[in-house]
Amino acid sequence: MPFVLIVIITKTLRGGLRMANMKAAIYYGPGQTKFEERPIPTPGPGEILMKNVSATTCGTDLKQYRRGYRTDKPGESKIFGHESAGVVAEVGTGVTKFNVGDRIAPHNSAPCGSCYWCRREQYSLCEKIVFATGAWAEYRLIPASVVEKNTFFIPEHVSYRLAACVEPLSCAVYSVDQSGLVLMDTVVVNGAGPLGLFHVITAKLRGAYVIVCDSVPFRLECAKRLGADQVVNIKEANDQVTAVRELTPDKRGVDIAFDCTGLPEIWEMNLNMVRNGGTVMEFGGCKGGSTVTFDCGRLHYAQITVKGLFHTIPRVVEESFNMIIRGLIPEDIIIGKTFPLEKFQDALDSHATGLVVKNEIRCDQ
Ligand SMILES: [Zn+2]
Ligand SMILES: [Zn+2]
Repeated sequence: MPFVLIVIITKTLRGGLRMANMKAAIYYGPGQTKFEERPIPTPGPGEILMKNVSATTCGTDLKQYRRGYRTDKPGESKIFGHESAGVVAEVGTGVTKFNVGDRIAPHNSAPCGSCYWCRREQYSLCEKIVFATGAWAEYRLIPASVVEKNTFFIPEHVSYRLAACVEPLSCAVYSVDQSGLVLMDTVVVNGAGPLGLFHVITAKLRGAYVIVCDSVPFRLECAKRLGADQVVNIKEANDQVTAVRELTPDKRGVDIAFDCTGLPEIWEMNLNMVRNGGTVMEFGGCKGGSTVTFDCGRLHYAQITVKGLFHTIPRVVEESFNMIIRGLIPEDIIIGKTFPLEKFQDALDSHATGLVVKNEIRCDQ
């Protein structure tokens, strides 16, 4: 009898969830958003329906809002946001690792694991990579491959809002990882937004001497609090390249220059900030169609390595989540203000001021 009762209750609950709508932040294109109702998704085989607790704003959301994103399709609307953490509300058939009620943080993508690029461990180039979007809503559907490869249990001592930051953190950690940074290197991080600051944390953990450039005093202050050794306010410097080189041993330039701005002029400057034999990491994505020019002689005779980098890979996502668990990411610096879901636009506008690092959007209030 109790069993029958449980089945009936479960069916009723499921039926109730299916019929209901949820509130969501909808992106219609650059500069166009609305707060609307959408049907609560149904998890298919291997998928999870997560009840979002906290979501976070990201520079990518801001870029998308301002200038669109490469995956935008005309006339198509979608739920905004890609960073959130919450509680398992429902599991699809075949999900055994997670149960209803578990506190989880999904990364926003997963590679296929079997294509040409995955077989070479270049997972961010996977031709069948699956993205989990739709974070700024009451519920979020987590695709099966993300459930399987890139979803984590949140320990009691970690907040939902910090757990939601695993995606941007892992992109920065992957960038530092791919730069070949070694103990005692001198590096410059151009741009002290969320991704730049995650670079600062990671480079300091790897034993680097870190110089940070930005034009916003608040962000430079955050960089200092996170351990940056030198900060350069580029509005006050006559020449950004000279200002950085003067802070390096014998003014020879940095070992590694990171771009975290997505500005072509900074991509170009990076080549003059590095020492001979140094490495340039062009991390920040520039507007589609952007081009840069550089002195071929500098690249050739100074043997400079220039690397592009996109996104992250599962090994690094796991390492990054462990950084969060170990308390290496200061929540009070990274998370600025908290907004209810219906005020998501205010959260985005506040992020755009540069006077917070990231904002939290509470999806359960
Ligand atoms: Zn693949
Ligand atoms: Zn992000």
